[in-house]
Amino acid sequence: MRRILEVQDLLLRFYTYEGIVKALEGVNLHMIEGETLGVVGETGCGKTMTGLSILALTPSPGRIEGGRIFFQSDEGWVDILSLDEETVRRIRGREISMIFQEPNAALNPLLTVEEQISEVLIQHRREEFIKKVLNAIEEDLQKTERKALSRAFIYKIEKKIYENMLKNPKSLLVRVFSKTPILRRYQNRLRKEVRREVVRILKEIKIPDPERVVDMYPHELSGGMQQRVVIAMALACNPKLLISDEPTTNLDVTVEAQILNLIKELKSKFGSSILYITHDMGVVAEICDRVAVMYAGSVCEIADVFEIFRNPLHPYTKALLESIPRPGKKFKSIEGTVPNLVNPPPGCRFHPRCPKAMPICTKVKPDMVNIDGHFVACHLYRKR
Ligand code: SF4
Repeated sequence: MRRILEVQDLLLRFYTYEGIVKALEGVNLHMIEGETLGVVGETGCGKTMTGLSILALTPSPGRIEGGRIFFQSDEGWVDILSLDEETVRRIRGREISMIFQEPNAALNPLLTVEEQISEVLIQHRREEFIKKVLNAIEEDLQKTERKALSRAFIYKIEKKIYENMLKNPKSLLVRVFSKTPILRRYQNRLRKEVRREVVRILKEIKIPDPERVVDMYPHELSGGMQQRVVIAMALACNPKLLISDEPTTNLDVTVEAQILNLIKELKSKFGSSILYITHDMGVVAEICDRVAVMYAGSVCEIADVFEIFRNPLHPYTKALLESIPRPGKKFKSIEGTVPNLVNPPPGCRFHPRCPKAMPICTKVKPDMVNIDGHFVACHLYRKR
């Protein structure tokens, strides 16, 4: 099966007044086409930063100081970190898109649902819509009676503008028409075409009454509906890779179940690969094919989802699974706290909290070992 993504030795640093935060310390993972890879771990372990790095969107003052991120784009197997900004912008949204944790923050409160989704569509699928408009104008021209010369004249001008938009969007004709208010009406056809697509996408993600919802602002929608709109924006261009960053965190359980079912349905319909970031092992069991467990900036275990639950190898994964509340069982939390990444512990970063720590763990960072397709970074297995 073809790989769609490969992250190799990713290093991310934040230069702050408190010191250098070593946020990602050699992250390694890969994804194959059509799979859902869950990335789990406690808050601050680097899950979101890994997702943002794949989109080359690491926030300031973060700096990627090492590693490579290969992606199977339309132009072949490319290293995202070595591409120019223009190419990355084209890949972002069109081939890789992200569903953010907080729909409130991802949506612009001043724009309607139609305006928000249209922006994505026009940015990435502009040519497709212009071609549709040109076909519609051609049909109108053929239907126009010979005597209706003035109408035919208007259609011909419209056709000329759209042809220019396709070939040379910065031409004088396009600029004059798009900057003069009365002439800007030519854009109505494009708007109608895009609106039709927005309504179709909203229907696809099962938003009730989409014709009404397109004209609503984010504050008029419930949390679940807002998250559906964010999903619609992410899926507007049918991306190859969808990065989902805890999309159900602030939703109540019934809405969470609906969103998870929706993501599963859309995945089987469009065949996108999904990188699903979460701290909830229940969600992982529900939605993922494989799981990468992260701790303090690096991946400590990767395996098939059934294997992770049946036979966890890394002491951190074991502790994570034991901390899932179960009826009739005593709740078991993980001792200690997440390390400060300005001054992380040497060797294995989990050693201050690990019940199995050995002298070597305090000095040497464990390498990832492959045990029949089950990858684990722990000295216990190296010894074996
Ligand atoms: Fe524990 Fe050592 Fe394994 Fe780290 S390397 S998880 S400290 S046993």
